[in-house]
Amino acid sequence: MKKSIIAGNWKMNKTLPQAEDFFNQINRKIKNAPLRQSSCILCVPSPYLPSASQHKLKSNLLIGGQDVSAHTDGAYTGETSAQMLQSCSVDYCIVGHSERREYHHESNALLNKKLFQLQECDITPIYCIGENLEQREKGLMEKVLLTQLAEGLKGFDISRGTIIAYEPIWAIGTGKAATAQMAQDVHQLIRRWISENYSPAIAEQTHILYGGSMKPANIAELIAQPDIDGGLIGGAALEVESYWEMVKIAEEK
Ligand code: PEP
Repeated sequence: MKKSIIAGNWKMNKTLPQAEDFFNQINRKIKNAPLRQSSCILCVPSPYLPSASQHKLKSNLLIGGQDVSAHTDGAYTGETSAQMLQSCSVDYCIVGHSERREYHHESNALLNKKLFQLQECDITPIYCIGENLEQREKGLMEKVLLTQLAEGLKGFDISRGTIIAYEPIWAIGTGKAATAQMAQDVHQLIRRWISENYSPAIAEQTHILYGGSMKPANIAELIAQPDIDGGLIGGAALEVESYWEMVKIAEEK
């Protein structure tokens, strides 16, 4: 059975001392209770990546960025390249979070370029897809998700390791998570799409995470679903205790 992935997305939160305090505490917890069934990934703000990388050497904590440039290098003020992430020993990077799709108008075509940048630098992408409430209510959910998959992953080899995160936009930061059955139905659809467009073996090995108001109170039911391989978690991953509670639940799965 695949290990569950418990990925925290800190978004634009915490100061450096607060981040380091979190890394120290989580490292102590992993040292006292080594992970067997799950992997911990922390997707932190870019300025904290070097510190996070130093801390990851002390335990098997994995580190992720939250975004990457579609360009390799050059005059792109404010951007972070895949090579920069690689030089900070980053293992994973979120691509296409709904906040970037919405506030920064990131298209599937642009996200496709970002995925290739990451693969070139051996960083595993966490590719986010999700529908908004209006799309779900109008019956457009499946079309939206399959378009995000087809256009975002166009020509991209996911067999080298790509994580898909299904994050219904109406569930992100709202406290209103999808029910386990709703999430399972979508995850099954995604896995079927991967099976048809890549291969059944690749579909089986690919981690598909759920994101959207996941927390200690609902994670067990969500990750008990056959096609939910873990979570991408915002709010509930900001405090060490609640993050660790979710890791422990995944360890007991
Ligand atoms: C996210 O930002 O990826 C997310 C899922 O946030 P939250 O857990 O707070 O809904």
